[in-house]
Amino acid sequence: MSDRKSFEATQFKASPNNLEAFFMPFTSNRHFKANPRLFVKAEGMHFTNIEGKKVLDATAGLWCVNAGHGRKEISEAVSRQIVEMDYSPPFQMGHPAAFELASRVAALAPTGLDHVFFTNSGSESVDTALKMALAYQRAKGQGTRTRLIGRERGYHGVGFGGISVGGMVNNRKWFGTALGGVDHLPHTYNPKEMAYSKNQPGWGAHLADDLERLVALHDASSIAAVIVEPVAGSTGVLIPPKGYLEKLREICTKHGILLIFDEVITGFGRLGTNFGADYFGVTPDMITCAKGLTNGAIPMGGVIVSKDVYDTFCNSAAENAIELFHGYTYSAHPVACAAGLAVLDIYKNEGLFDRVKDLAPYWENAIHSLKGTKHVTDLRNVGLIGAIELESRPGKPGARAFDAFLKAYEKGMLIRVTGDIIAMSPPFIVEKSHIDQAVSIMADVLKSLD
Ligand code: PLP
Repeated sequence: MSDRKSFEATQFKASPNNLEAFFMPFTSNRHFKANPRLFVKAEGMHFTNIEGKKVLDATAGLWCVNAGHGRKEISEAVSRQIVEMDYSPPFQMGHPAAFELASRVAALAPTGLDHVFFTNSGSESVDTALKMALAYQRAKGQGTRTRLIGRERGYHGVGFGGISVGGMVNNRKWFGTALGGVDHLPHTYNPKEMAYSKNQPGWGAHLADDLERLVALHDASSIAAVIVEPVAGSTGVLIPPKGYLEKLREICTKHGILLIFDEVITGFGRLGTNFGADYFGVTPDMITCAKGLTNGAIPMGGVIVSKDVYDTFCNSAAENAIELFHGYTYSAHPVACAAGLAVLDIYKNEGLFDRVKDLAPYWENAIHSLKGTKHVTDLRNVGLIGAIELESRPGKPGARAFDAFLKAYEKGMLIRVTGDIIAMSPPFIVEKSHIDQAVSIMADVLKSLD
């Protein structure tokens, strides 16, 4: 007889002893052991935790489960694909679903962005886009354009490229110099000028002029690309001031700098349009995406690029075309493509992006109804994204919002916190009654905090 443990003995029971082997991202282990929070099921707008309690998902998982949880259309497509063909190499060989998904994503993307490179995550999408930008400039005979420009309080994932152009000190400070030759534009948040503004603040378009300062400092001939999130999500929902993205576009075009929008959060309907680029009416040269592309069910990301960028690498008739030596074993994985196609069907068949547009005014009123609630210093909203900024506990930044996170969970709701900012971004299938419930739980939580 083998000494295999019985099935009973392998059934998971959360205890401090078995919460060590999984080294959790962002070292969550440190806070987790004292108070393990384990989800075992998810359907529609809710998770179910290991104690059997339902938890309202006010964050679409991690900004990704746009069409709600447990979608049979996705699981059936995925399972069919695994049975039919589990894997196919992504270069030298292809498979139909990859081309179909790329065509459908390109059809959703702003005019002029017609080609899709697939990755497995947002971080990979960002690093891919940055590498493309550098190689593109070199192929155009502009090899001196090696500088990359990000923004303070930007989040672009955790690859070396992403942390370099990103603007979160904790994600950067432990990892040496990361990429050199990176500058940062100022972030766009100024509570004095924009607290409690709804949707886009009126103040702050001039902050884009800082790009002209960087051009004057380094010369345009040294700058390859600028990358920004249209709405900075992970650092607390910073909504671009009116005119700001337009100005960035104008300055990039003027100086031959590529503009990359990191739409890992804003892509696929979060603002009620296909992409944030559509919402703000500004077309970049590349869009990075992930999350909503597969509804979070299977890891997948992508970089959507202009014809000019594509031709530079893929059309040998183009002047100076070069090969892009970059790709992943799991680029355009057939199972991820199957999930993506099923998800795009759901978005279309259920009109979910229009649903976001229709719900956005209700959402805005609901978020702003928290004005005056204890500890609240600002409220922000755009599309189906909301942020509640709290006054920090003296000497303990972030502690109050983290307490809010724990208390909300106790009351049966998942929120996301970053610093002293609470972010909410429900699945698009959310009902007004869920929004009311979420705001009412939030109000109770905030009133109960010291
Ligand atoms: N870029 C943005 C704007 C994001 O919000 C995220 C994740 O939240 C990423 C990149 C990284 O994506 P991933 O965690 O899939 O690597």
